[in-house]
Amino acid sequence: RRTIPELLADDGPSFSFEFMPPRSEKGEDLLWDSIRRLERLSPTFVSVTYGAGGSTRDRTIRITGRIEQETTLTTMAHLTCVGSSVAQLRQIVGEYAAVGIRNVLALRGDPPGGPGGVWTAHPEGLDHADKLVHLVQSLGDFTVGVAAFPDRHPESVDLEMDADVLVRKADAGAEFAITQMVTDVDAYLRLRDLVDRRGCAMPIIPGLLPVTAAGQLQRLTELNGQPVAADVVRRIDAVGDDAAAVREVGIAICTEHASRLLREGAPGLHFITMNKSTATIEVFDNLHVPAV
Ligand code: FAD
Repeated sequence: RRTIPELLADDGPSFSFEFMPPRSEKGEDLLWDSIRRLERLSPTFVSVTYGAGGSTRDRTIRITGRIEQETTLTTMAHLTCVGSSVAQLRQIVGEYAAVGIRNVLALRGDPPGGPGGVWTAHPEGLDHADKLVHLVQSLGDFTVGVAAFPDRHPESVDLEMDADVLVRKADAGAEFAITQMVTDVDAYLRLRDLVDRRGCAMPIIPGLLPVTAAGQLQRLTELNGQPVAADVVRRIDAVGDDAAAVREVGIAICTEHASRLLREGAPGLHFITMNKSTATIEVFDNLHVPAV
């Protein structure tokens, strides 16, 4: 299979989908239903998250390995430094390789209690994502991606620092970055331009989430500490408790953001699917991407 950077270099934007390891058999059935539907869109790759604090470690390995083995999709597994010594991280990467995973999103992870808390590295572990990039690359034939924060990472002093950190991660061997959910396209463009001005050509793929329910954005802000653009909040709030209208507006907003990001030259779009498929497929269809 071709590597993600090779696929990103192809003509046209990339499309990728993010899943979470399901907690139950029923959840796994729903995930597989989504995977089969989204597979028809021929995504560039799909990724599977690594639960906060490493809580899903075994499930991330098993699900990503299963997708790798039972579908034609290119997979990427997320990995964080939280709660693991370097020896344990090496072992996990070895387990990734054993099930056929060749692409890893190397992350630091959040402090216990979520973003905004005080980050302390494992005493025999790694303190920042750039070191994990280096470690994963040193362990074999892996392609490594990293996280990017157009709305500023909560622990960064300013966006210039986020741009510096991205360049450091690229220097450590990262070949692409994926952003947190973009709700303000201008913020994405600001970060991309700051990185570009530093002479770093690493592709930065914007993350997108089609909002389908009232309260979803608020929960995400609580979980990730991420601000949501005021006009997005206003448009969702304006339709209030009308579930169908919230969904319609959420998909319209996501389509507008996706179209503008592609017009502005974003290398691709990474959809956070929440293990569902319908909303993502609707946005994808709205974009009228020519079939490959
Ligand atoms: P880092 O790059 O280490 O940055 C963390 C902070 O430290 C930043 O403020 C940065 O400016 C600063 N910093 C970085 N390097 C240095 C340095 N060398 N010296 C001093 N300061 C430095 N979390 C999960 O638990 N599981 C997931 O699956 C997951 N997937 C994600 C996917 C995406 C696309 C994104 C955007 C985030 C994801 N996260 C996930 C969340 C992520 O782990 C947190 O946001 C975390 O707080 C930051 O991770 P990082 O890899 O950017 O860390």
